[in-house]
Amino acid sequence: MYMWAGYVILWKKKTKAIIMFKALNLQENKNNHIEPAGDAERVKCLIIGSGPAGYTAAIYAARANLHPVMYEGLQPGGQLTTTTEVENYPGYPEGITGPVMMEDFKKQAERFGTDVRFGLATKVDFSGPLHKVWIDETKLIEAEAVIIATGATAKYLGIEDEVKYAGGGVSACATCDGFFYRGKDIAVVGGGDTAAEEAIYLAGLARKVYLIVRRDELRASKVMANRVKAVSNVEILWKHQTKGLFGNGVVEGAVLVKNKGEADEEEVTIKIDGFFLAIGHKPNSDFAAGYLELDPVGYIKTTPGTSKTNVPGVFACGDVQDPVYRQAVTAAGSGCMAAIDAERYLSEKHA
Ligand code: NDP
Repeated sequence: MYMWAGYVILWKKKTKAIIMFKALNLQENKNNHIEPAGDAERVKCLIIGSGPAGYTAAIYAARANLHPVMYEGLQPGGQLTTTTEVENYPGYPEGITGPVMMEDFKKQAERFGTDVRFGLATKVDFSGPLHKVWIDETKLIEAEAVIIATGATAKYLGIEDEVKYAGGGVSACATCDGFFYRGKDIAVVGGGDTAAEEAIYLAGLARKVYLIVRRDELRASKVMANRVKAVSNVEILWKHQTKGLFGNGVVEGAVLVKNKGEADEEEVTIKIDGFFLAIGHKPNSDFAAGYLELDPVGYIKTTPGTSKTNVPGVFACGDVQDPVYRQAVTAAGSGCMAAIDAERYLSEKHA
């Protein structure tokens, strides 16, 4: 899924279709007064979001007899459904595609009785003993325990070519896709810690890495900045911005603008096979702001070593609370933690 000019863009690989629709302004919705259309539905355990974290929480919650109801969100299966091959998830020695893997997770969650539904949580009220969650702005669910697994969305530049070459050389995850660019030339966009870290990681695989930085300095910490500058096959392109990508079906190069807006502005073309975005992630937590403690970027804060948020009975797992690792396997692990924490919370409550 990509966000571009206020639109959500979904690339359906199987049908090669691009679906585009106006994104909901969740912050606005949060502040609106929304009445449920009908009676509230009461559930024991509500899971919001359906990536590896959400499905794993569902498997554990269902097996613990919590009768979980899951709302899948805008992108059923989460970020993994936009990736190609997943080769670093244990248990798949031959690798597996992201969409198939998420379909397997879903089947496993349903096998134990998870009620998986299509819908987006748009508003919450966590002020009372029962946690209220509005789905698609109208349906009200009252849950004893809520597990939030809504993930994070990688930021994209917003240029059309990112959509055109989705799955054809454009990626927002070096750890997931770097392996496919062994011995090739690639570019990483960004100047923060993620960009520095991913450029260093990719430099160990690729022949050459261009680091495209829009300013004349890195935002990354000094130690990371020094580290990336010292890598011999990383070339930092200072004060460069990306204008577009080109290639026959897959990325073969990028057109950059150097010194944009200055007297010596010029266009620069680089030949690359892969184009990695590392300009930050946006955790999908807007709908719960105001009730849950978030860090300055918007990640939900949890008590270290647990999935507990500041609201008793509300738990968070996966990328929405993880600014550091952001891997499918760590998300799945934290989903397991959330279900166990929810189960313990409910048994103490009913003891
Ligand atoms: P940051 O927000 O720190 O950095 C984003 C970078 O992308 C900046 O250099 C920014 O440029 C650039 N950027 C943003 N938008 C555009 C654009 N449209 N075109 C070109 N460049 C753009 O995000 P990170 O993901 O790097 O880091 C997030 C947080 O996670 C940080 O606090 C970081 O320290 C932390 N982190 C820590 C790690 C570690 O400790 N090992 C590893 C990874 C992340 P500009 O500087 O000009 O704004």
